[in-house]
Amino acid sequence: MAHTLPELPFPADALSPHISAETLEYHHGKHHQAYVDNLNKLIEGTGLAEASLEDIVRTAEGGVFNNGAQHYNHSFYWKCLGPTGKDGPTGALAAAIDAKWGSFRAFRDEFAKKAATLFGSGWAWLVRNEDGSLEITQESNAGCPLTRGRTPILTCDVWEHAYYIDYRNARPKYIDAFFGLVNWDFCESRFGT
Ligand code: MN
Repeated sequence: MAHTLPELPFPADALSPHISAETLEYHHGKHHQAYVDNLNKLIEGTGLAEASLEDIVRTAEGGVFNNGAQHYNHSFYWKCLGPTGKDGPTGALAAAIDAKWGSFRAFRDEFAKKAATLFGSGWAWLVRNEDGSLEITQESNAGCPLTRGRTPILTCDVWEHAYYIDYRNARPKYIDAFFGLVNWDFCESRFGT
């Protein structure tokens, strides 16, 4: 089963000026496409050729893991974004965040801090642990919560390729803009799974 690059769930200029069409052209069209192409080359003729992407992420190592997890992480990241205009979650997810952090603002501050201070390349995640608790985690490089039995709810890509065209080295400015673009409806649906 060959893996394919998913379409962006919004027009390429929909996040502008916070995330530009040029950033998406490179981030989605070049970087994400390369992970998909590399993954397909690496699994061809192997026991993972017919495996689901989730199974590859959970079981593979080395280059297959790196490219498979980056394919999974980016596919998830695009779904977390959109021109939704919603400031935060509602319903059960909002209640769970309030219960854990006291307020959405406190949650957002901790998420932004963990995203900003992640050393090098990687991802900040809001996850649900197997015991049902929420947690904000940092994953380096291609790290993915699926490998630890966690359910991903929200992610922010903090590799430089996610923000360098628009913000140069100012990662905190990109993270601040990211919070204006989160598709909370998607995160709420993830929390409900
Ligand atoms: Mn990326």
